[in-house]
Amino acid sequence: MFPAAFRPSRHSSRPIRVSFEFFPPKTDEMESVLWSSIERLAPLRPDFVSVTYGAGGSTRERTHKTVSRILAETDLKPAAHLTCVAANRDEIDDVVRGYRDIGVRHIVALRGDPMAGIGTAYEAHPGGYAQTCDLVAGIKRLGDFEVSVSAYPEKHPEAPSIEADLDALATKVDAGADRAITQFFFDNDLYLRYLDRVRARGITIPIVPGILPVQNFKLAKSFAERAGASVPEWLGSRFEGLEGDVDTRKMVAAAVAAEQVLDLVDRGVSEFHFYTMNRADLVFAICHLLGLRAVAPAEPARVAA
Ligand code: FAD
Repeated sequence: MFPAAFRPSRHSSRPIRVSFEFFPPKTDEMESVLWSSIERLAPLRPDFVSVTYGAGGSTRERTHKTVSRILAETDLKPAAHLTCVAANRDEIDDVVRGYRDIGVRHIVALRGDPMAGIGTAYEAHPGGYAQTCDLVAGIKRLGDFEVSVSAYPEKHPEAPSIEADLDALATKVDAGADRAITQFFFDNDLYLRYLDRVRARGITIPIVPGILPVQNFKLAKSFAERAGASVPEWLGSRFEGLEGDVDTRKMVAAAVAAEQVLDLVDRGVSEFHFYTMNRADLVFAICHLLGLRAVAPAEPARVAA
């Protein structure tokens, strides 16, 4: 008998689609962790893998380098994140053209956080793209790109209301966004209620849930505070007292993440975006529970001697 969380999903016959998010590494050591994670997750055949863009545009070159290497060394489809921050339109357009020229076909378009830090007022760069919708339109003008944007089940911290936040999402969709990926959340009801409101607003693009598997509760809590995502009390109590017990924490982390995604599958969700934090193990295990199996790369065709 399976405990409820591990019950094979009633919807397991629906094809599950996943994507993985990575951040560009700063050091050689981080680079090797990232690449071993990519190698482990690639055989799960994600729809795409995305590479973030550092706050304030601080990783422009590193994002480009990571995306280029994914294109050159794997058969994965990379999506490059790009923000409106700290650059004028010409500079951003050059980045987009650079991606177009090396064969990138997918950009995750974001406004970015205020240069003076989260919580301060956002000021558009003079001569830059003012809002994400302007960036989306700019990218679509420059090439045949698929464009993903963000969505916030608990509203963006700067939005005065959920309605204002849905208006912002609608401007991005009107500008041509093909898909939205949500900020992470831990309470599935929040996502499903948000989805209802998005659909009631007439927005029909996929709203893919962004899943942050919690490896380290303290770290996840501090991310959540900055991102305006709530952390339910029950989540804290699951990790309580395990600060010094890495092995149990890992098992609890896997159980908590499995519970969240399998509940979403049971409630009809079949597409997931994982915030991997450049670590493969937990995400690999969750994907396995979702029914995904590693597929070996196709053997090159043999030429008869
Ligand atoms: P948007 O959703 O475009 O807007 C945020 C708020 O601005 C809105 O709620 C609204 O209040 C206002 N607004 C938006 N459009 C309009 C409009 N047309 N008129 C008036 N007001 C408007 N940050 C990075 O620096 N690098 C990354 O790689 C990165 N990746 C991310 C990936 C995902 C999936 C998510 C969810 C977030 C990511 N972020 C990233 C964080 C993001 O940059 C910040 O949350 C930022 O503060 C908002 O950018 P956005 O594109 O999400 O904003």
